[in-house]
This record gives sequence, C-alpha cells and structure tokens, in this order.
Amino acid sequence: MPVPKRRTSKTKKNKRRSHDALTPPQFTSCPKCGEAVFPHRACAACGYYRGRQALPVEES
Ligand SMILES: [Zn+2]
Repeated sequence: MPVPKRRTSKTKKNKRRSHDALTPPQFTSCPKCGEAVFPHRACAACGYYRGRQALPVEES
C-alpha cells in the first residue's frame, strides 16, 4: 500500500485549505412580509414570488 514519503508541511496543508472556507447562505427579505427568503425561491411564509402568489398559503 502506498504511503507518503514526507509529512505534508504546515505551509502546504494551509495553502491547500485556503479555498475550503464555506460561505454563509445568501438571503434577502420578502418585500411582502419581510421574512428571510432565498434568492429565486418563493417566500416560505407568504408564498409570494415576483409579485404574485406562487405557493398555497399555509396558516398554522
Ligand atoms: Zn413573504
């Protein structure tokens, strides 16, 4: 079974991981109800998308 000949240096390891950071999820507020909504998704609270009803409203 192949085994690395040299231990990976801290520099090499950190440079490899420099692109591994996660970005937080992007969202805006719904213009109708102000709830946080993901882009290109209908609002989960009021069901509106681009100024019209896109999903049936689910009231609890
Ligand atoms: Zn909404």
